[in-house]
Amino acid sequence: MSINFKKLADKYQTPFYVYDFNHITKQYEELKSSFRARKSLIAYAVKANSNLSVIKHLAELGAGADCVSIGEVKRALKVGVPTYKIIFSGVGKSDEEIKEALLLDILMINVESAAELNRVEIISKELNKVARISIRVNPNIDPKTHPYISTGLHENKFGVDIDTAKRMYIQCKNSEYLEPTGIHCHIGSQLTELDPIKESINIVANLVRNLKAIKIELSFMDVGGGLGIVYKDEKLINTYDYAQTILDSMFGLDLTVICEPGRFIVGNSGIFVTKVLYEKINGNKRFIIVDGAMNDLIRPALYDAYHKIEVLNDNKDFSDCNIVGPVCESGDFFGKNIELPSTQSGDLVAIYSAGAYGFTMASNYNTRERVAEIALIDGEDRLIRRRESFEDLIAHEIEFIK
Ligand SMILES: *Cc1c(COP(=O)(O)O)cnc(C)c1O
Repeated sequence: MSINFKKLADKYQTPFYVYDFNHITKQYEELKSSFRARKSLIAYAVKANSNLSVIKHLAELGAGADCVSIGEVKRALKVGVPTYKIIFSGVGKSDEEIKEALLLDILMINVESAAELNRVEIISKELNKVARISIRVNPNIDPKTHPYISTGLHENKFGVDIDTAKRMYIQCKNSEYLEPTGIHCHIGSQLTELDPIKESINIVANLVRNLKAIKIELSFMDVGGGLGIVYKDEKLINTYDYAQTILDSMFGLDLTVICEPGRFIVGNSGIFVTKVLYEKINGNKRFIIVDGAMNDLIRPALYDAYHKIEVLNDNKDFSDCNIVGPVCESGDFFGKNIELPSTQSGDLVAIYSAGAYGFTMASNYNTRERVAEIALIDGEDRLIRRRESFEDLIAHEIEFIK
């Protein structure tokens, strides 16, 4: 993708996020076609990048939405994702969220505990509705990724163990208000190894077979998201191998596959663009200070995540430095001990692989306005979220008057 950063910076001011929608299309199509041997639904994990235009673009391609709050469900509905392609996941759904999800008649609720299933049963009875249920199984498999983005071990808060899941399906079968519809499993994010996926899908598929034997027939096998992307030099899982592994594990089972990618779809579609304010040297440590900060892109601070960083000038005199933002935290950095060329105030800096868990994790810390988001479609730039103003920031505050 060749982007005229200078033109975008002149037009929209820095910092900003820019997303290549053609790349989003490419990623979606690649995954969808990998599953072509079966009925499948790619339910985009909205939390990765929940800009309405991003969800809308994916909806037009045929994607569904995997949501982790009723707010995300509403975003999906607002831009035309059909109810029958919307899934609601998450360990802590409130009564109000469950009620709204039932009234909206979405495809299914991914239930993550026995207690939650009881709440769903009570609420659906009150509403006199039948809740379509999918149970999130925690297969106790180590996904071999960063501990903060690992979700498939019993020590993680997600899902229920196999025996509990089986009891919960039986509860569904015996209830007038619960319909066992799907099964769900998501072991972590930024997965780069196929074996843990294969092991966990096998465990889930065996449960589906056990359930079938006791006349509990499910329609959907939701294999979660988590496919990794290249940030630095990671070796990735080939999507065709990924799909084939899942389909092999499902041998003899006639279920529609649901896959919930977030990062894979949008991660490398996005770039965070910031500009150099100053350089300085403390002792013998060189710092480049830019106008973007951890409140805009928190992944380096939160996960010690690597992002490729490029200074957009022609200088060749690379030397070791830290590239940091203006926020009053030592954790406010984009790169540490990396080689970058000398800079001048105003030079643009591109921070790559920022399309997933970038803007969606942004905050107003230090009373900083959240930045603009720009879409590139067939080379044309379109503003899809304007930069916030000071008035936006204080809009919900109530001044205490004595
Ligand atoms: C976060 C999440 C995803 C998406 O994860 P990625 O690593 O972005 O693909 C999918 N499913 C569930 C349940 C999630 O919580």
